Amino acid sequence: MKELLNGYQCEICKTIYNQKEKAIECESQISEEPIKEIGFEFKARYYYGEGDFDYVDIPTRIYKISFSNHKINYELEQNLDGKFQSIIICYGNKDLLRLINSTKE
Ligand SMILES: [Zn+2]
Repeated sequence: MKELLNGYQCEICKTIYNQKEKAIECESQISEEPIKEIGFEFKARYYYGEGDFDYVDIPTRIYKISFSNHKINYELEQNLDGKFQSIIICYGNKDLLRLINSTKE
């Protein structure tokens, strides 16, 4: 926690609070650690119909990892038509794990 002229700042997410207690509380929230590194590749399954085989597995890789509000954001590229493009974002480890495990159901 950092004391500023206009309040108190959480040093993790940089949010500024009027009350010192709020800044301390914010800072004590659990911050996530990355569970996968940049370049990690996997297949993400997407369903487009009702049938058991109406799905497509798209090669996906982690392109960038950033942090905001005590959470990790994974920016992902997907291989469509033989070329990595189309960036999607997973908010937090839970979101990423859901996508990684989508082909294992
Ligand atoms: Zn914070």
